Amino acid sequence: MSAQFVDSVMATVVARNPGETEFHQAVHEVAESVAVVIDKHPELAKAKIFERIVEPERQLMFRVPWMDDKGQVQVNRGFRVQFSSAIGPYKGGLRFHPSVYLGIIKFLGFEQVFKNALTTTAIGGGKGGSDFDPKAKSDNEVMRFCQSFMTELFRHVGPDTDVPAGDIGVGGREIGYMFGMYKKLTNTFTGVFTGKGLEYGGSLVRTEATGYGLVYFVSRILEARGMSWKGLKVVISGSGNVAIYAAQKAQQLGANVIALSDSNGYIVDPRGIKVDTVKRIKEVERGRIKEYAQEHSSAKYTEGWEGIWTTPCDVALPSATQNEIDEAAAKALVKNGCKAVGEGANMPSTPEAMKVFLDAGVSFAPAKAANAGGVATSALEMSQNSMRLSWPFEEVDARLKQIMDNIYDQCVQASEVYGAKGNLVIGANIAGFLKVAGAMMAQGLV
Ligand code: NDP
Repeated sequence: MSAQFVDSVMATVVARNPGETEFHQAVHEVAESVAVVIDKHPELAKAKIFERIVEPERQLMFRVPWMDDKGQVQVNRGFRVQFSSAIGPYKGGLRFHPSVYLGIIKFLGFEQVFKNALTTTAIGGGKGGSDFDPKAKSDNEVMRFCQSFMTELFRHVGPDTDVPAGDIGVGGREIGYMFGMYKKLTNTFTGVFTGKGLEYGGSLVRTEATGYGLVYFVSRILEARGMSWKGLKVVISGSGNVAIYAAQKAQQLGANVIALSDSNGYIVDPRGIKVDTVKRIKEVERGRIKEYAQEHSSAKYTEGWEGIWTTPCDVALPSATQNEIDEAAAKALVKNGCKAVGEGANMPSTPEAMKVFLDAGVSFAPAKAANAGGVATSALEMSQNSMRLSWPFEEVDARLKQIMDNIYDQCVQASEVYGAKGNLVIGANIAGFLKVAGAMMAQGLV
């Protein structure tokens, strides 16, 4: 029955969404995990809950014309996929990267549905973005693009409808420009975005939240092995929002973070990465990670991002992009003694890589659970906006930690109840699915 369920769901998904390979990959993983739940609960099968979840409630694609600094007209494509509003308004980030197409946005939106459910805050799932590349663009070009993007998106979002945030290529600068245009077009000042600046309704800890939350989650899988961060060698890919704050928190807890990367290459600093230098290079100067090695003689830069996984480490935190760890990279990590992997990025491990980790007994924290701290803190930002209050750093951080602990406990429990003790991939998929399925059953066929 289980194999039949997966095959039949996948046949429809592949036929209906041709060429969207990342979306197929994300659905396949969840379908495999929840097949056992569908077997046990014929009412979910009868109501076609999973078949409904894989079909977004609404998907939008739109033209984004803008003018560059040379006076040339540029045309990009914008996306917003409103996947599920079963447990709250659509919620999920916007990604600006040249690789963006519908399949990427759909895989991210699909994952977001279950991730948001795991946070136990009332938010549904969505995702959006554009094939616009903010790299090497002037602030004015980024602003003109963001403003044009919002002249279409504004009519589809709202604080009780759909609340976007950042993702790859979308940070505080982009959120500010988009929020400004939304405010002007609607003549409202509402919490329609999260990740806002602190001056205009942002929450303390939102910037740090995904990276910090990842480290809090991995603390639990280390504890379960009788380990702590003290003295562990940690390799983190990427050098963006997630990577920087994962590195900062891991170091605060006593780890030695020795490597970071960007899409051009990676640095290894055996003495420990100086996070302040990385923050300045990446956040202020918008430079490249190789500049770190020019400033710190203890560090070595290697061209090409893939090689980072050959760096011996105890813990790997892939925090750059999807499918960045393939089977060969996973084997290299295992061979070099890696004991735990925490996914900061969305779907950074291929299915083959995940199998290598699980077969080798590596403790594995899947993205849906491990990187949910960002969106959880976004939900806290929404609460503060609704109350017109702003909580202190310590309070938001304590809530974030509590949420990550709770997600870990839910994953462990679901894995035990459904016969896959210790497999947090299955645990996360099932725990998230059950919450969304329960809400959908209660709301009838809508
Ligand atoms: P940023 O844009 O801040 O940073 C992305 C980083 O990854 C950059 O350093 C980028 O380098 C690097 N990168 C991209 N592709 C590769 C590659 N193939 N190899 C090595 N490095 C690469 O994005 P975020 O940190 O926000 O997002 C990173 C991941 O985390 C994404 O998968 C995102 O979906 C996920 N995530 C983010 C959340 C958030 O709150 N921001 C929440 C949950 C998940 P370059 O500058 O060269 O492009």
